[in-house]
Amino acid sequence: MDNYIWKISFHIIMTLRKLVDGIYVDTDGTNGGNHGAIVLEDEVVMIDAGMIHTKSQETKGFLKKETGKPILKLVFTHSHSDHVFGAQAFEPVSLIASVPMRERCEENLKGDWEIETIKKNYAAEKNERPELWEAVQTLSIRLPDVVFKTHLFLGNNEEISVKLLGGHTAGSATIISHPHNAIFIGDLVFSGMFPYGGDPTCDPDRWIMALEEVLDLGIETIIPGHGPICGPSELERYIQALMDLRANVEDATTTGMTVSEFIEEGMIPQDITEGAERFAERTLNHWFKFYG
Ligand SMILES: [Zn+2]
Repeated sequence: MDNYIWKISFHIIMTLRKLVDGIYVDTDGTNGGNHGAIVLEDEVVMIDAGMIHTKSQETKGFLKKETGKPILKLVFTHSHSDHVFGAQAFEPVSLIASVPMRERCEENLKGDWEIETIKKNYAAEKNERPELWEAVQTLSIRLPDVVFKTHLFLGNNEEISVKLLGGHTAGSATIISHPHNAIFIGDLVFSGMFPYGGDPTCDPDRWIMALEEVLDLGIETIIPGHGPICGPSELERYIQALMDLRANVEDATTTGMTVSEFIEEGMIPQDITEGAERFAERTLNHWFKFYG
C-alpha cells in the first residue's frame, strides 16, 4: 500500500517520460515549455530546462537514476523564460545556445528579467501557479556559457547536431538526434495550436523557411516546444496553417483591417484556432507590424 501511494505521488510530480530508448521528454506543460533529454554513450544532454527549477531538480534526479550517467550539457532551443528559468537545477552543467539567443538573454536581464520585475509580474499568478511563484523566490537566471554561430555537433560520433534556424526568435535553434531520427524543434512548433509569435525578433518568413527545411530532412519524430509529439504529416499541416495565416495577415494589412477585426472575422486558419485566445493578439500585433 505504501509503495502504491508512493508510486502515485511520484507520478504526479514526475512528468518526464521515456519516449524511445535514449530519449526522454516532458510534454506535460506543468513545468513551462516542453523539454527533454538525449542519452549518449557516457553522458546525458538536456534540451531546454523547464521553467520551475524545483521541478527541474526532480527531472535531473530522475534522469541520473534512470540512466546512471551525468548531465554534462544543456542546450537551449531559444531564450523564452518557460524554456530557460529551470537551468539552475542542472548545475554544474555547460549551457549551450546560439549567439543571438544569448544576446536576447542579456537584453532581458536589463529589463523583464530583473528579479524585482519578475517577482512583480508573477505575483498575479501566485494562487493559480503556486509552484511557479515559489520557485521564482529562489530563481537565479543562468545564461549560456558556450555559444555557437551557425551549428555544432555533440557526442563522440556527432550523434547530435544543433542548428540555428531563427523564426520564432532570432536565436531559435533545433536539436537533432540522428540515431533516433528525432528533432527537438522548440517553439517553431506549437503542436496543433496557435503559436506564440510576438517576440520582437520573431520573423514569420524565416519561421516558415525553417519548418520547410526540417520537413525536407524526413525526420520521423518531432518534439515540439508545446503540445504533443508529432510527425511529418502534422508538420506539413502546420506549415500550411502558418502560410495561410501569413497570407491573411498580408491581405489584412493592405485593407487596413485591425487585429481584433482579423480575429473576429475568423481569419485564423482552422488547424490553429486552438489556443488562439492566449496568443493570437500578441502574435498578430507583431505580425501586422512585420508586414504592414
Ligand atoms: Zn518561445
